[in-house]
Amino acid sequence: MCRHVAYLGPPIALSDLLYAPPHSLNRQSWAPREMRGGGTINADGFGVGWFSGDALLRYRRSCPLWTDAGLPALAAATRSGAILAAVRSATEGMAVTETAVAPFTDDRWLFSHNGRVAGWPDSVVEAAGTLPVRDLLTLDAPTDSALLWALTRARLRAGEEPGAALSGVVAEVAKAAPGSRLNLLLTDGETIAATASGHSLYSLSRDASVLVASEPLFDHPDWTPVPDHSLLVATPSAATITALEGAAP
Ligand code: GLN
Repeated sequence: MCRHVAYLGPPIALSDLLYAPPHSLNRQSWAPREMRGGGTINADGFGVGWFSGDALLRYRRSCPLWTDAGLPALAAATRSGAILAAVRSATEGMAVTETAVAPFTDDRWLFSHNGRVAGWPDSVVEAAGTLPVRDLLTLDAPTDSALLWALTRARLRAGEEPGAALSGVVAEVAKAAPGSRLNLLLTDGETIAATASGHSLYSLSRDASVLVASEPLFDHPDWTPVPDHSLLVATPSAATITALEGAAP
C-alpha cells in the first residue's frame, strides 16, 4: 500500500531516490518488500515534490512510475536538498487520478499518506465536519489521503508543529476509524515528520542528511526501523522517535 520517501541534506539528484539505488522508489513500485494490508505493487501513480530556492515544485502522474520514459533524464538533471516522493497503490474503491497521488502540497509543505482509513468515508464524516467547508470543496481528490492532508494542513495553519499536527491527526482518525493504517509523511524543507502506524518505516541519518522511507533504498548498517505506533521528527542533524499518543489504531 504505497511507498514513500523523504530526504533533507546536501543537494542530490531526484534520481538518487527515484532510480539510482538498488531498491529505489521505482523498484519499490513493482517489487516492494514490505507491503502489508493487501496491496502487491504500486502502479496507480507516483509523485515527487522538491524545494528549489524559494519555489516548491511538484510532478505527479496517474501512471506507474516505470512507464514514464521522460522522467529518468529530468530526474538525473534536477537537484534539491529537500525532496518527498511517493508511489501509489490505490485503496479499493478510491479514485485513480493524478490528483489522488502524493505529494499533496501547499506553498511550503509536502505530504504523503501510506495506508487507509478504515470504514471510509462514514467513519470520518464527523472529523471532516471540523474543517472549513472551503477545504472540503477544494480537496485534491475524494480519497482518504486527501482528507488526511486537509486535516493536517488545518492544524499546521493553526500553528501546530509538524510532529504535533501528525500525531494529532493520527489520534483523531484512529479513534474515529479503528483499524486504520496511518503512515503520514510531511516536510517543509527543514524538518521531516513521519508516523509509523500500521506500515513499515525506516530512517537513515548520515553525512548531515536524513532519509526517511517505507523501505531502505540501499544496504547500510545505520538504517533504523521506526517502531509501529511512533512519531519520527528529523532534521539533517538530529532525529527523535517518540510513542504516538492514544491507543494503537
Ligand atoms: N488509501 C490511499 C489511497 O488510496 C493510500 C493508499 C496506499 O497507501 N496504498 O490513495
